[in-house]
Amino acid sequence: QTKSHAGKRIIFYDEQNIAAAMRARHIEGIMSTALLKEEFVAYFQPQYDIRGGKPVLCGAEALVRWNSPVLGLVRPDEFIPIFEKNGFVDRVDRYMLERARIRLRQWMDAGLRCVPISVNLSRQNLFSADLIGRIEKIVDTYSIPHSFIKLELTESIVAESTVQLVETANKLRERGFRVAMDDFGTGYSALSILKDVPFDTIKLDRAFFGESIDSERGRTTLTGIIQLLDALGFETVAEGIESENEAEQLKEWGCHVIQGYVYGRPIPADEFTKMHLEPAQTDLQDKGDDR
Ligand code: C2E
Ligand code: MG
Ligand code: MG
Ligand code: MG
Repeated sequence: QTKSHAGKRIIFYDEQNIAAAMRARHIEGIMSTALLKEEFVAYFQPQYDIRGGKPVLCGAEALVRWNSPVLGLVRPDEFIPIFEKNGFVDRVDRYMLERARIRLRQWMDAGLRCVPISVNLSRQNLFSADLIGRIEKIVDTYSIPHSFIKLELTESIVAESTVQLVETANKLRERGFRVAMDDFGTGYSALSILKDVPFDTIKLDRAFFGESIDSERGRTTLTGIIQLLDALGFETVAEGIESENEAEQLKEWGCHVIQGYVYGRPIPADEFTKMHLEPAQTDLQDKGDDR
């Protein structure tokens, strides 16, 4: 060998890195087939409005699950980043939008009270020229009112491309869709972004709660932000709330909506319908009987 090794980078692999890389390769090798075979499943997590006396269901977030016969249950935190790198995430997001549309149609046909479904959009979608057209095509096939679809864009996009984000959000809202900023508080965007972003909803990330609720400074930060968002006209959703205590606190502080284990974990669509939509129906019937 006459080739010089000068200037070449030397990379040290440990066994874990190798295992992770091999698993990622494996995932990439089977992802297309998995989509065709419908191994990806939409779970739904409820969102409850806490402004009134008793929490009321006001929405659901569609969260993807992968039930792979070869890999077992794979978490989105593992496969979404891989799909974001190789571009496949686009197809998964579209698939999830289709699942949301199917579910909304079912609820409407069954005469259930419908709530908007939130679908996550990866940053890649922002750069696709025909994003809105594609979304409309999917949603309009089943004549779903656009206001029942909410698109979640993650905060980390903001730092990267504020212009694209604002433009996309504006276009979506012009067409009647709703838009939410996901994971607010985890990225690097300055608060000043809030005066420019045309969003309906801001989702406060789990990172805001937990320990920070226990400290004076943490509480001051949180209540200040909730007030600010409210004054700017955003709907605020607190994500990842697990205890009644936290839910009570957030209600006191003026937070509008809670999405967390305290009111329900992400579950398959049929279970969601039974647990969160049908009881509301029974409530109504009960009231009818009283009259
Ligand atoms: P996300 O969009 O911020 O979704 C919220 C995550 O918080 C979900 O994790 C949900 O299960 C979890 N969560 C909700 N309440 C609680 C709680 O009380 N305690 C705890 N510990 N966790 C809670 P999940 O389903 O594992 O999804 C993780 C992330 O993967 C999502 O974060 C989202 O960024 C991404 N993701 C999921 N589905 C899709 C999808 O269809 N498309 C895209 N592009 N990304 C997706
Ligand atoms: Mg989300
Ligand atoms: Mg989030
Ligand atoms: Mg997240």
